[in-house]
Amino acid sequence: ALVMRHRLKSSRQWGRVSAILKETEDQCATPIQKLRQVADAMHVEMHAGLASEGGSKLKMILSYVDNLPTGNEKGLFYALDLGGTNFRVLRVQLGGKEGRVAKQEFTEVSIPPNLMVGTSYELFDYIAAELAKFVATEGDEFQLPVGRQRELGFTFSFPVKQTSISSGSLIKWTKGFNIEDAVGRDVVAELTEAMERQNLDMRVVALVNDTIGTLAGGRYYDPDVAVAVILGTGTNAAYVERANAIPKWHGLLPKSGEMVINMEWGNFRSSHLPVTEYDHALDSESLNPGEQIFEKIISGMYLGDILRRVLLKMAEEAALFGDTVPANLSIPFVLRTPDMSAIHHDTSSDLRIVGSKLKDILGVTTTSLKTRKVVVELCEIVASRGARLSAAGILGILKKLGRDTISSSGTKERTVIAMDGGLFEHYTKFSDCLEKTLKELLGEEVAEHVVIVHANDGSGIGASLLAASHSQYVELEES
Ligand code: BGC
Ligand code: MG
Repeated sequence: ALVMRHRLKSSRQWGRVSAILKETEDQCATPIQKLRQVADAMHVEMHAGLASEGGSKLKMILSYVDNLPTGNEKGLFYALDLGGTNFRVLRVQLGGKEGRVAKQEFTEVSIPPNLMVGTSYELFDYIAAELAKFVATEGDEFQLPVGRQRELGFTFSFPVKQTSISSGSLIKWTKGFNIEDAVGRDVVAELTEAMERQNLDMRVVALVNDTIGTLAGGRYYDPDVAVAVILGTGTNAAYVERANAIPKWHGLLPKSGEMVINMEWGNFRSSHLPVTEYDHALDSESLNPGEQIFEKIISGMYLGDILRRVLLKMAEEAALFGDTVPANLSIPFVLRTPDMSAIHHDTSSDLRIVGSKLKDILGVTTTSLKTRKVVVELCEIVASRGARLSAAGILGILKKLGRDTISSSGTKERTVIAMDGGLFEHYTKFSDCLEKTLKELLGEEVAEHVVIVHANDGSGIGASLLAASHSQYVELEES
């Protein structure tokens, strides 16, 4: 009977489905001209954010990293990576030029959802306890010279106003975290106090964003890495800037003449961004309305929910799933981006995976092939908008670096972009579209010199490398 009902869906209803589909496609459109406008706007905002504090939606945060890993880093270091639904703790034994990353161990722990919206004390208590457990499992193959304190690189993937390489206060939460009492506080102090409560004798020597960690980790393996981009639950980018191109910085110019900038590009917005009614609704119902607009169009936390919102409208106004609207379709975030990805990548002729996903998630037992096709088309529209806008953002950075054209001198410097994050890693259609679009934007000749590499979990290794170069014992080592 259900099948019959689907067959009998009136042509008027199908007309409405295609109208909504067409409308969504138009509103999400990212023709190359528009992408160029977005890249230009990103470039302009980068300048503004570097010119003065608060000069732009782009915070362009100084990371206090003015030296990237050289390969000479040595010793035992820990890293803690907090920024999504999981956190990771790792220890690495760095062996210098010959030894490289000699030994490495890690553990990954998921963060109980209630801790993401609780108190700072509880969150850091939990993290420090897990860290202490991990430290207790350190084997003899890891070597800490006698009399030394263990040192940690802390990757904290939220906007932080850095006050030094090892301190900084939280500007705001993103990505579903909302712990009010932590805002404005020094996250290193919070972690240090929690470690003391665990009697864990360890010192945080580097506080870094995941983009900074990824840049450092990428540079360790390839000297041409100049940009890092995270496309995961959230999104962000970092790059190496000339220190004298940062007017808002009044500190001493570093010897290297360089400074790594954490752009916090997730907060970028521009009148050129294609936004729909679904994006507006998602934003206004979010934990951080008006914030992280670029992130809400692009990143893994949100893509699935944008899709859900369009499907809900089609269900309500055009009976896409039959006479009743599936109740689950009204639950925010039920449709996760990994599910969307599975739907989008279904290559079976009868779209069997799409069918079973819709059944599992929405409880719709039967769907017509036509309906399943509509769902796949929507994935394509929503994912390619995000991927193409990410490419435009990267073009903006390359413009700032002067790497978007073959320089007049004819030099063909290689520019490597270190990428990481679950969206980039697992949503193949997304990453393929991003790479293809970037090539198209750059043109064949320039594109030959711009390389995207997947820096797999580079941010953890990167943080430990930065811990090594900012160790309290580093002078000892060098003399
Ligand atoms: C945060 C950034 C982070 C990015 C990727 C964003 O929500 O604001 O600091 O780098 O997510 O994890
Ligand atoms: Mg990460």
